Amino acid sequence: SIPLGYFGGIGAASRQGILFKGGNYLDAITKINTVVFDKTGTLTKGIFEVQSLSAADHLSEKELLRIIASVESRSNHPIAKAILSYARQQQTEIDTTIETTELAGYGLKAVIDGKEVLVGNTRLLDSAGISFHSDENKVSSERNFIFSRLNEIPETVVVCAIDRQYAGYILLADTPKEDAATAIKQLKELNINNLEILSGDKQIIVSKLATRLGIPHAYGDLLPEGKVAHLEELKRNPENRIAFVGDGINDAPVLALSDIGIAMGGLGSDAAIETADVVIQTDQPSKVATAIRIGKFTRNIVW
Ligand code: ADP
Ligand code: MG
Repeated sequence: SIPLGYFGGIGAASRQGILFKGGNYLDAITKINTVVFDKTGTLTKGIFEVQSLSAADHLSEKELLRIIASVESRSNHPIAKAILSYARQQQTEIDTTIETTELAGYGLKAVIDGKEVLVGNTRLLDSAGISFHSDENKVSSERNFIFSRLNEIPETVVVCAIDRQYAGYILLADTPKEDAATAIKQLKELNINNLEILSGDKQIIVSKLATRLGIPHAYGDLLPEGKVAHLEELKRNPENRIAFVGDGINDAPVLALSDIGIAMGGLGSDAAIETADVVIQTDQPSKVATAIRIGKFTRNIVW
């Protein structure tokens, strides 16, 4: 049976917007020595802004935006929301009736006017065998120069191909949450120094954020299964007691694998909230440290 003191701990946590799914997690969280964060929507605001757009020579920017926004119109991803809001500002005609297939870690696939459209990262085009370096795509040399460096620029890039032909790209940026620095500082004060970021976004973006926040390990360019493999690797060391903190978009498998799965509220999907052991209802990653402190305080009362 669960000692009565745990109910006090659960109550104290819930008043802070932290929901523990059971008293056992309140105890387990005190043993955490490794905290792994998802990036987008967890350490960053998850609110992207379109920085620039570039269409291939055979397409107008207006047409490119119409196609990408239509493909993204039913996606829940923070990137999709940014593109939609930008498209509306530009008074773009968006077709919201298009059937799309979401490819986790890559982007989306759809058919528009009988043409197959891919919208996602450079990995998506690579995996479909579409080269945006080749001459047959009739891209100017200036653009070729940009493409060869798409993985080196510190912005998130969404590339589009129509009927297996490169059609253009959009650059977006997201900003770190102010609370993210506090979150890291407070975990270090609790002597939790094994901190990591896992992300499907580009390595250069993940590394820059990690340096800025004082997180020693940054892993980018990961597919959902790459995140799972990384967690399995961490678990092979029995001394690691791992909490994973994610916004829930594409994160349910990693939440399930960790010793404590923590879902950040608001943006999270139902699947993630179900899989999580702890749900943080605010958008503050520093609540992870708060949850650990409440766990420790409760343990001291109970025992
Ligand atoms: P993160 O690990 O940063 O939370 P995700 O696993 O959700 O990222 O997505 C990884 C990458 O897949 C994104 O950085 C983006 O390049 C691409 N992607 C996913 N969904 C979409 C989408 N709806 N539109 C465009 N790109 C997408
Ligand atoms: Mg995510």
